[in-house]
Amino acid sequence: MQAIKRVSERAIAWLHTQALPASPQNYWLAFACLDGQHGELSRTLDALLDGGVRLKQVEADALYEQFFGRAATALPHLHDDEGSTDALRHQTLRLADLAASAQAVTGEFSRELESLPGLDAADPIDVRALVGVALERAQRSERELARTTAEVEQLRQKLETVRGDAERDALTGLPNRRGIDAHLAKLRKAGTPGVLALCDVDRFKSYNDRYGHAVGDRVLKTVAQSLTESLDGHFVGRWGGEEFLIVATLHLDAGLKAVQRAKDELGHRHFRLRETDEPMGRITFSAGVVPLPAAAEEMEAALARADALLYQAKEGGRDLVLAAEDTP
Ligand code: GH3
Ligand code: MG
Ligand code: MG
Repeated sequence: MQAIKRVSERAIAWLHTQALPASPQNYWLAFACLDGQHGELSRTLDALLDGGVRLKQVEADALYEQFFGRAATALPHLHDDEGSTDALRHQTLRLADLAASAQAVTGEFSRELESLPGLDAADPIDVRALVGVALERAQRSERELARTTAEVEQLRQKLETVRGDAERDALTGLPNRRGIDAHLAKLRKAGTPGVLALCDVDRFKSYNDRYGHAVGDRVLKTVAQSLTESLDGHFVGRWGGEEFLIVATLHLDAGLKAVQRAKDELGHRHFRLRETDEPMGRITFSAGVVPLPAAAEEMEAALARADALLYQAKEGGRDLVLAAEDTP
């Protein structure tokens, strides 16, 4: 697992030095070149790079075509190895985090630039124009990073689908988005009333930052298990990332109480880091609870309302469950 992680990181770094975008296809190519298991590919590449030239995209495409063809099944041992999928998923998460922090930095930079005193276009050296060009470049690579992240994520989802149950999330074993949609459709058909709750783990990123993604994964599995136990008889799905969707066949007040109880039960557990026995502190979440709509067309609005309540709960200090009957 560690070895795969190292190869993934080197692959991304290598693409960077080659000035090639980290598209899924380039990523596989780099990964296969570096994993020590594709000797002929590595030799061909070494011969191409002899003399220190950079690999061109057309050459990368030709290599990919030659060694892996177009079929996804020819991808180097990625869908039959649990560790590789995890490494790929963590790589995706790092890319997404990187894109988010790049966005924050360039946003801040352009605000600072706006507020710089005495900088105007009439200056002999047009600093504003110069910095503007640099900023535009940074924004372009930021967009590229976001696009690449989305592509890798799509590919990951496809691999997950190939690997097993298309309606279940491989990490937590809970129904995934598709499983959630199927469940909601079934409830609507039966006309079952209830509530839905959108839950988001508080400060989850700090677990990844402090202990690494593998521990973050374990936290997610634990939260999934705790929610499932606390809400026995109700539906718990993984909405995505560190967000969970609960569907309880209860009225709003009872639904709110059930989700609050689930939050308290999770908060009362004492988590320790397996490796060092270090206490990890309380794990909490925030949530928004709304009535389950009767018609499919109202679902989007109901989810948006739950999301708005969730946002309010975060603003209100987190570790909080809020409910509302109607649109505010
Ligand atoms: P907030 O209280 O505002 O919700 O803060 P937060 O840190 O929970 O929220 P943020 O959206 O900043 O961070 C969520 C993080 O969850 C970012 C992403 O890297 C991580 N993440 C998403 N999916 C997974 C996963 O499957 N495994 C791991 N380890 N991390 C994941
Ligand atoms: Mg979130
Ligand atoms: Mg969160």
